[in-house]
Amino acid sequence: MVLRIRTEGSEILRKKARPITTVNRSIKRLAEDMLETMYKARGAGLAAPQIGRDIRLVVIDIGEGPIILVNPKVTSSAGSVVDVEACLSIPGVSGKVPRAERVCVDSLDIDGKMQLLEAEGFLARVIQHEIDHLDGVLFIDRATDIVRDKDESEQR
Ligand code: ZN
Repeated sequence: MVLRIRTEGSEILRKKARPITTVNRSIKRLAEDMLETMYKARGAGLAAPQIGRDIRLVVIDIGEGPIILVNPKVTSSAGSVVDVEACLSIPGVSGKVPRAERVCVDSLDIDGKMQLLEAEGFLARVIQHEIDHLDGVLFIDRATDIVRDKDESEQR
């Protein structure tokens, strides 16, 4: 089921999301719906607050298959790189955001098992962007050179 993506101005995007205590069937179904929603919107990642739920659940696919992160936490990071980002919750806006180049992330998978992920480059960037969503942080809070796509604001 495709879910409605909340956009800038929605209170939930600014809330700190709660940890998930049990990875049950409803969490699994929600993760599936979030993936479907993300694919339809042609995004690389989606966090639960973006679809109106204040829980620590993230889905990602950078073209290498789906990744589901429950209660993700960056345990270490290295390097720094600036690149352009956008967000499904802030349509038509992009900006340059500094992020760690590499991250190690602890989380639970969709079966509730501990998983350790080491990521670099674009995947590391997406992970950091999505974890920010769980803390009520949007990329525009960190961005410089913010550009608003004129076509988008004119309801293309
Ligand atoms: Zn986003």
